[in-house]
Amino acid sequence: MTTMNRRFVLASRPTGAAREDNFRLETVAVPELAPGQVLVRHHYLSLDPYMRGRMSDQKSYAAPQPVGEVMIGGTVGEVVASQSASFAVGDQVVGMGGWQDYAVVTTDGAVPSIRKVDTTRIPLQAYLGAVGMPGVTAWYGLNQICEPKAGETVAVSAASGAVGGMVGQLAKAKGCRVVGIAGGPEKCDYVVRELGFDACIDYKAAREPQAFEARLREATPSGIDGYFENVGGMILDAVLSQMNGLGRIAICGMIAGYDGAPLPLAQPSLILRSRLKVQGFIVSEHMALWPRALAELGAGVAAGTLKYRETVANGLDSAPGAFLGLLAGKNFGKQLVKL
Ligand code: NDP
Repeated sequence: MTTMNRRFVLASRPTGAAREDNFRLETVAVPELAPGQVLVRHHYLSLDPYMRGRMSDQKSYAAPQPVGEVMIGGTVGEVVASQSASFAVGDQVVGMGGWQDYAVVTTDGAVPSIRKVDTTRIPLQAYLGAVGMPGVTAWYGLNQICEPKAGETVAVSAASGAVGGMVGQLAKAKGCRVVGIAGGPEKCDYVVRELGFDACIDYKAAREPQAFEARLREATPSGIDGYFENVGGMILDAVLSQMNGLGRIAICGMIAGYDGAPLPLAQPSLILRSRLKVQGFIVSEHMALWPRALAELGAGVAAGTLKYRETVANGLDSAPGAFLGLLAGKNFGKQLVKL
């Protein structure tokens, strides 16, 4: 019997905020497998802020997502048919299967695009979050750019999210004072009580720059030595004014500007005056360090010392709405879609 695959393609590029009608649902027959191929039934799709960038055709670190093709996305699932010597039916795998229920994957290339994962101590979907790309992002930006030392103060924005939550826990484990910035009392409460941050500032309760700066000063009495930036705008301005001399800033994301709003810096001269290192990075350009990061993250998750939270939307149909929600901060922790 023919298996039917439902998939979302990019229907059009957004102008301004992304909308549900930028995506189109299609149903197509799954083709017969060729030698070396496997069929993967996806169980979870990862929704990530970078997808908004791929929907645009502005110059960036990666080529734009082509219109009419399946939306890019990380997936975990199970091999349900195999013509490959390397993968058997029942194998649990992580890959970049995209916004669709099934993917046909060629496994005989030099580097197969799926990888088997061990789900005995780590839940399958964690390979899309804490023990996947967002976790490695946190590990890389913190360790390689912020370079935290015991006794220093580290701050992170979007602190309750997939990346931010991990940044704070890893910095805490290094003996730092850790201050999060997040939207709303519930997220801030979680960051402090569950993840063990020392403090968290609700930026939605201090929308005026002066009010936010005052809260940040209170929470960081010794200044900030390492900052992990996920948001940009007013938050970055305030952090810059609190940075200690020779501080390090990892520019990981600028989600406040992903819909195209400009995010000017109020006082770039602070970078000079405080002799800051400010470095952007893209985690996929540092593959050599992934095994080390994943080993550390996997051990922490399996032992329960690294915690995370998920928001799970139900069914492929819900993916566009859940994605727009992620860009608006409606997710609380790693945003997944259960397929
Ligand atoms: P999150 O789970 O943190 O979800 C995104 C969060 O961003 C929202 O929940 C919301 O949290 C916050 N947010 C959204 N809009 C705004 C806004 N206008 N102002 C302030 N906060 C906002 O996502 P991830 O953990 O997956 O990603 C976090 C960041 O890391 C993103 O910027 C992403 O692009 C970046 N990233 C970069 C990578 C790299 O290689 N450089 C790789 C992976 C991620 P709140 O409610 O607290 O505002």
